[in-house]
Amino acid sequence: MPADRRGERVRALVPALEAAGIGALLVTSRPNIRYLTGFSGSAALVVVTPRDLLLVTDFRYEEQARGEAGGVARVVVEGASAWDRLFKELPALGALEAIGYEAQALTVHDAARCEAGGKAWRWVAAGTPVERLRAQKDADEVAAIAAAAALAGDALRDTLRQVRPGLSELEIVGLLEGALRRRGSEGHPFPAIVASGPRSALPHAQTSRRTVAAGDWLLIDFGATVDGYCADITRTVVVGARATGGQRVLYEVVRQAQRCAREGVRAGMPGKDADALARDWIEAQGLGDAFGHSTGHGVGLEVHEAPRLARTAPDPVPVNAVVTIEPGVYVAGEGGVRIEDDVHVAADGPVLLSDGETELVELV
Ligand code: ZN
Ligand code: ZN
Repeated sequence: MPADRRGERVRALVPALEAAGIGALLVTSRPNIRYLTGFSGSAALVVVTPRDLLLVTDFRYEEQARGEAGGVARVVVEGASAWDRLFKELPALGALEAIGYEAQALTVHDAARCEAGGKAWRWVAAGTPVERLRAQKDADEVAAIAAAAALAGDALRDTLRQVRPGLSELEIVGLLEGALRRRGSEGHPFPAIVASGPRSALPHAQTSRRTVAAGDWLLIDFGATVDGYCADITRTVVVGARATGGQRVLYEVVRQAQRCAREGVRAGMPGKDADALARDWIEAQGLGDAFGHSTGHGVGLEVHEAPRLARTAPDPVPVNAVVTIEPGVYVAGEGGVRIEDDVHVAADGPVLLSDGETELVELV
């Protein structure tokens, strides 16, 4: 990522700083630090002003911070306390009265440090201006998510070739995680979910020791990471048998709902209207009560980020958001189906980033 692109991101924050009446923003969220500076280590404090971008880290990260962030931020390395160093550096950033902080990313412990060590300034909860910027991806970010999605699709195909009745969910997740790593995923953005049989009816099931039997649903929800950017995909297949009539009907309801939403989502549409693209179809089939979660969420440096595609989300989906579309229907005691793809909401319509291969797969 070129430094001038990161510089643009910092400049894009200035109106939000002015609107919030703050002369500087203290950034402590790791993904926000990475977004603004490129630094991907786990310990840094960043301050943004209209003219300056300061990154304070400790000696363990000196080389990494200078290499990743040196082109855009002023990197200061401290041997003892990064917080104490921050308070020493702040006066050099100009006559600041109020400094904003990220309430969603600052611990109570660190907030107390700001109050104690930073008495010269007024500390103000600044909302989530960096997350708002992050919701609109540039071309490089979209490309990284597309690469992660392609890798995830390949890893899933590798895995499904080996799945058969008699394997446990944990053995299957092991195959998948190995395939993701072999294909080049930098990490698992969240622990993959492999849920079989009646356990597929638990929308946030944890992978268990359960052995997969012929005729079971197998729901696999997983991610991959490329250049720090995540993909998030779910497929539900039938293992070791042809699908029953009932399984086929349930699957087609979800497949149709997912298709409606991934083809119908548009920039500017309120998140609740995007949610309804999938939900209305499922409700019309009499299965509304079996779809308890939201239709989708933004995906990027974090696997869950803005915007939300949910009944309770009035805010518009911004142009160039990348979102998941993941309706599901869950029948307690029997099983569930969820289908999830990643979509770039471009100015002229949605562009699928994952493979979108949602025909019912029967592993026989
Ligand atoms: Zn997912
Ligand atoms: Zn998701």
